[in-house]
Amino acid sequence: MPHRNILLVLAGMTVLAPLLRAAEEVVWQKTASTHFIVMHTGDETLAKAVSERAESYYSTIAADLGYTRYQNFWLWDKRVKIMIYPTAAAFATACNAPSWAAGRANAKKHEIASYKQSGEGFLSALLPHEMSHLILADFIGEENIPLWLTEGFAQWEESDRKSIPAMPSSGQRFSLKDLMTMDIRREADRTRVGLFYAQSASVVGFLIKTCGGESFGKFCRTLRDGKPVETALATAFPRDIPSLETLEQKWLKAVTLPPKK
Ligand SMILES: [Zn+2]
Repeated sequence: MPHRNILLVLAGMTVLAPLLRAAEEVVWQKTASTHFIVMHTGDETLAKAVSERAESYYSTIAADLGYTRYQNFWLWDKRVKIMIYPTAAAFATACNAPSWAAGRANAKKHEIASYKQSGEGFLSALLPHEMSHLILADFIGEENIPLWLTEGFAQWEESDRKSIPAMPSSGQRFSLKDLMTMDIRREADRTRVGLFYAQSASVVGFLIKTCGGESFGKFCRTLRDGKPVETALATAFPRDIPSLETLEQKWLKAVTLPPKK
């Protein structure tokens, strides 16, 4: 009785399908602000806090690239979506993220995703970090922006932006030439990875702190246009940091702490 079997299977599917969907489906609510749409599952207080912080980061990050919030980025239909999944598992499944990942930025989808979590980690670190990657990609363009620059910038923006990040006390460091050509994604040694991130944050912090957002934005744009780092330095900081050698000297002097007594 093939027909009956098919009917049974179909009947089974119609009973099961809504149950399966109910388990997976997230019912989204929207909280919109000038540059963001926060998608959440009912926690209005959290959504409001996220959108307020995101708007405030937007201003500081844009200023560090020489833009003002009035230059019409990310308005209306260009607003960035911030998805807050109800659980870590829902986030990992939806974004195909590894179990250790706490958030993800997707430049193509214009979206930042994370999940509802306790503590300040998301609001004070992950959100400004991922926003910085998106803003750099959108305002400047991703082409030719090296890894040290985007990771250094993202870390600078999640810091208090007051003092240039210090280097590890071990005294280890890469030469700037090595730092700027490294692809750390292929690196297995955790110490070298940590060093790469710390040094990138320190060098970017030094550039922004010393020369200001407008010059830093110009530096990024010159690199994006495919010019070598020496040209970008001479174009953006002709007086203070005209070469890689000067950058290395001045940066080292700024981050080297006096020896402990
Ligand atoms: Zn990053």
